[in-house]
Amino acid sequence: LRIGVVGAGAMGSLFGGCLFEGGGADVTLIDINPAHIGAIREHGLRIVDDRGDRLLDIPTVTPDAVRGTFDLVLVFTKTLHTRSALAGIAGTIGPETYLFSLQNGLENKETLLEFAAPDRVLIGVTTYPADIKGPGHVESNGEGVARFAAAASGEPPISTALIRAFEPSGLRLVYDPDVEAAIWEKVAFNAALNSICAITRSTVGQVGADEGTRSLVFSIVGEVCRTAIASGIAADIDHVEGMVEHALSHHTHHKPSMLQDLLAGRLTEIETINGAVVRKAVAAGIETPVTSVVLKLVRHVQSPPQV
Ligand code: NAD
Repeated sequence: LRIGVVGAGAMGSLFGGCLFEGGGADVTLIDINPAHIGAIREHGLRIVDDRGDRLLDIPTVTPDAVRGTFDLVLVFTKTLHTRSALAGIAGTIGPETYLFSLQNGLENKETLLEFAAPDRVLIGVTTYPADIKGPGHVESNGEGVARFAAAASGEPPISTALIRAFEPSGLRLVYDPDVEAAIWEKVAFNAALNSICAITRSTVGQVGADEGTRSLVFSIVGEVCRTAIASGIAADIDHVEGMVEHALSHHTHHKPSMLQDLLAGRLTEIETINGAVVRKAVAAGIETPVTSVVLKLVRHVQSPPQV
């Protein structure tokens, strides 16, 4: 399989690097960050995870330098950059190319469908974590899984080849026809914890230690899960509450990505997480008062008006 990974930051570098290392696929990393690309070209991509610390001599290019068409494009930009990133490599997306998103948030399917036919769009969700420690250097730890399904109904023809390409990578990929429920459950988790940590500029542990912010987190989980169910998706609220409880008591020092983005002066993924939930809730006739307030507050703090 010829795979292009567009958005080779934390997750793109981890997935692209492990797929390249495993030898199951011909992988090219595509990114626009000159420092990151330069470091990979000069020293190799450094991956540090439970399997060790190694340097990979992996092909890494800017969008304008990609040649030919890919069998599969794995999309790992932040969701606010998906459209511009795919437009930037539109020449490499042929009629047979699959587009595959494991990004967080809702509406990834809709964005990918702007660039490929429904039978060529794969969506999913992953529990693997990754962090960029510096240019050309990514770290990850712990077990995880990536689940996927096709935008069109039924198992996609590429499924077997894709799962086989992942096997030697050490990353677990499974076909899951109910992946929409897993996507919504992760959105519920992120809509709740990420946004409250971001607004309060607090770690997960600090939010959990304050009864007030803790109750807001669980209110959002309820609102998102009720919206999912009203939209025909069987999200499991008990499962999400369990994940949140676990994070509040075990990941106390963690700063979720939305907080990290705010602190670094970057736009967050709020529009495809809380924003998308509120849009779906309006369509389904569900009230989401806390999610809506939090959406407005994160919008404000990430782009404060100049007065
Ligand atoms: P990141 O910011 O580390 O990486 C995004 C990369 O996209 C950057 O290197 C950036 O330069 C690149 N990019 C931006 N615009 C581009 C363009 N036009 N063309 C090519 N590249 C472009 O983000 P991340 O943490 O890897 O997250 C990626 C996605 O995965 C997000 O949706 C995130 O929510 C999701 N996710 C992240 C984690 C995690 O632990 N980091 C876990 C699960 C899911």
